[in-house]
Formats: sequence, C-alpha cells, structure tokens
Amino acid sequence: MRLRLVTGNTHKLQEYGRILSGLGCMLPLDQLDADSVEECGVTYYQNAYKKAFLGMHSVPAALADDSIVLADDSGLELSLFENMPGVRSARFRYADLSEKPALSAFLSEHRVSATPARFICWIVAFLPGSGHCIACSGSVSGIVALESRGFQGFGYDPLFTPDGYSLTFSEMDSCLKDRISHRARAVQALWCALQKTLPLRP
Ligand code: IMP
Repeated sequence: MRLRLVTGNTHKLQEYGRILSGLGCMLPLDQLDADSVEECGVTYYQNAYKKAFLGMHSVPAALADDSIVLADDSGLELSLFENMPGVRSARFRYADLSEKPALSAFLSEHRVSATPARFICWIVAFLPGSGHCIACSGSVSGIVALESRGFQGFGYDPLFTPDGYSLTFSEMDSCLKDRISHRARAVQALWCALQKTLPLRP
C-alpha cells in the first residue's frame, strides 16, 4: 500500500512525510503532480476533492489497488475581514503583490498590526480501487501580524503565531509546526479513519 499525495508544493510533501512518520505511519509517500489542476472551487473540500479525484484517475490501473490518493486544500482566514483570503489564499493579490507580501500590504493599508486568524486544511483521500473517499479537516487559531518573522516553511507562515505560542510557524522548529498545525490535525484525523477503514500493510 502507498500514499500518493497530489500536490505541486514540495513544502507540503515534506510536511506530510514528517507528520505521517510522527504518527507511526510506515506507508511510503509519493507525489502526484498537481500543476494542471485549477483550484476554482468555492470550498476547500471542493478543491481537495477535485485534486484527489484527478490524481486518482492519473494512477495507472495496475497500481490503483495499492494506492490511497489524497490531496488537501488549505487557507488562512481573518475574522476581522469576513474570513478573507480563505479559500482564495493561494490566489490572494493586493497592490500587485501575491500571498504573504500582499497580506502584509493589505493589513498595513487597513492600519491593522495584528488580528485573529485561523488556518484551515481539508483533506480528501480516495481509497484503493473503490472510488470511495474519506474527507477530514483540521484548523489552528492564532494571530496574524503585519510583521514577518522567521524563514522556515512557506506561504503565510512568517505572519502566523498560533495561540499559546510566541513564535511564528516560520520561527518554530518544523517538528512543532507538524504537531499543532491545521495540516497536522487533518492528517491525524485521516490516519485514524484509515486505520479503521483499511487492512493496512506496509
Ligand atoms: P493550497 O492548499 O496549496 O491551495 O494552499 C493555499 C495557500 O494557503 C497557500 O498558497 C499558502 O499561501 C497558504 N497556506 C496553506 N497552508 C499553509 C501553511 O501551512 N503555512 C502557510 N501558508 C499556508
């Protein structure tokens, strides 16, 4: 049995590897390319489903029975601004900037130095050869600040400090992010569900 993660983001792939091995999952993890998938859904679930569905159909028939094909969609929500950028986090643009610099410019323009936020992650996983899927989600609340701190991770990590911590995701040890993040919580839920659903063998 193998896990095949549909993503074009190598940071995500590495996070999945670390989170899964931290959970004791011994299944090999492969990457399936996601470059051609347009994320046009209005929910995280829709985008994750689409990526996982297209990924599942790209797996050669001979390998399908041994493949759990999964994808996630995630984003950052600011409650003060009607949960934007939300499902559009990867496509967020402001003042000709994208993602993290765009959000910093947006907060600066609105004279907000820090505001409550949460990261959300939805995972959809297609089970081997059956067409059935499992959906799981995870979230983590915290504060998004205008000031960028730290150099690790990706996306909005340098702006986000989870509740109960003083370091941003970019400043903390990646092992800690991989225990408390939205993605970690969604993967924990998925791994629980898979263990109940499948006769797993390495
Ligand atoms: P997607 O799930 O790859 O579509 O992620 C959407 C966007 O949300 C990414 O481009 C990142 O900007 C942001 N994002 C999702 N997860 C994380 C994370 O763990 N850290 C920082 N940014 C993230």
